[in-house]
Amino acid sequence: MLRKVSVLGATGSIGVSTLDVIARHPDRFEAYALAAATNVDKMVEQCRAMRPRFAVMADPDAAQRLHAALADTDTEVLSGEEGLAQIATAPEVDTVMAAIVGAAGLPSTLAAARAGKTLLLANKESLVMGGHLLMQAIAQGGGALLPIDSEHNAIFQCLPQDAAGNPGKGGVSKVLLTASGGPFRQWSREQMAAATPDQACAHPNWSMGRKISVDSASLMNKGLEFIEACWLFDLQPEAVDVVVHPQSIVHSMVQYSDGSVLAQMGNPDMRTPIAYGLGWPQRIEAGVAPLDLVATARLDFEAPDEGRFPCLRLARESVAAGGTAMAACNAANEVAVDAFLSENIPFTAIATVIEHTLSRVNVVEPTSLSVVEAADREARQLAQEWLAAGGR
Ligand code: NAD
Ligand code: MG
Repeated sequence: MLRKVSVLGATGSIGVSTLDVIARHPDRFEAYALAAATNVDKMVEQCRAMRPRFAVMADPDAAQRLHAALADTDTEVLSGEEGLAQIATAPEVDTVMAAIVGAAGLPSTLAAARAGKTLLLANKESLVMGGHLLMQAIAQGGGALLPIDSEHNAIFQCLPQDAAGNPGKGGVSKVLLTASGGPFRQWSREQMAAATPDQACAHPNWSMGRKISVDSASLMNKGLEFIEACWLFDLQPEAVDVVVHPQSIVHSMVQYSDGSVLAQMGNPDMRTPIAYGLGWPQRIEAGVAPLDLVATARLDFEAPDEGRFPCLRLARESVAAGGTAMAACNAANEVAVDAFLSENIPFTAIATVIEHTLSRVNVVEPTSLSVVEAADREARQLAQEWLAAGGR
């Protein structure tokens, strides 16, 4: 039986890698539905290659253009949040790749979880915002949650597993979350204050979308991943250490009470964690070059510098504050990253915007999607008002 896969965020970096892995296994997977925001040209190309049953554009104008461009095919075009919800929950669908960027991915990710789909989670922002809701939805829906973020995928692989392949915690003392350090690892605060968006997006090891690339440069990506690890594996913050590892060969590690440390290694290519998620609990071919350790030659490790990279501290503080503070941290970061990418604020102001916002938000219990969305809106508004008033 072919597994039917819906790919949310198909035209992005993760989406493209996902379709690459799916195309390698026509005997196992079928791209049932693809979804994106506005990139009609890429979507047309992907639909002609993959022939999905449905294609969704979040933007209604883009959906109309796609509809016209695919008139000679069997692909049905849907639009907006309803279209996303439909392909995330359709009874025929087995697996949903959640690879929309940012808070926009939360409703469809939650819907897939509630519907009991096997959820391949790349959209870390949805877990950061609504971790409690998403973990509850997974438990209620009864589907599997497989982390695609390379670090969490590595941790998943290194944790003890039961006979069905589900991760446990027996004997685990710590999780060691590796960080590349990003393009500014050795830059001073002064240099970072003058950094351009293109410099921030020039990641030394990974080729990714612009938002996550900026997050990697500020280390907010590691902050978001710290929160993500706590939710995914039900860990206390003290049980997660961040270790800078510039080569991005060790994707993360699990330390056991007997002194053993298990690491998952590989070339920095997202097709490895994507193939792991698609194939789980089996291993399938991913098209990734085998790791050449002799050519790699060395693996370095160092402590993160929270003085130069305050975003990591801010993420930690939002975990300590609990409730909707993590949603607010994520929302303020999205506003700040947008402002930086539009060249309205310097790179170093990203942390300032988040710190200012976190000091002013109302923190409440994240009891429902609407409560989380309200916290997200409040934080965006505070961040935008501060920027409009010249805050930097
Ligand atoms: P990207 O910017 O390359 O792609 C984003 C995708 O989301 C695009 O297809 C876009 O059309 C779609 N999208 C954006 N807003 C949407 C909306 N409102 N409705 C529907 N679709 C929408 O981003 P990316 O690098 O592929 O990252 C995607 C997610 O995966 C992010 O959450 C990121 O943190 C996570 N992630 C990415 C990588 C990586 O290597 N790129 C690694 C780990 C985790
Ligand atoms: Mg990652």
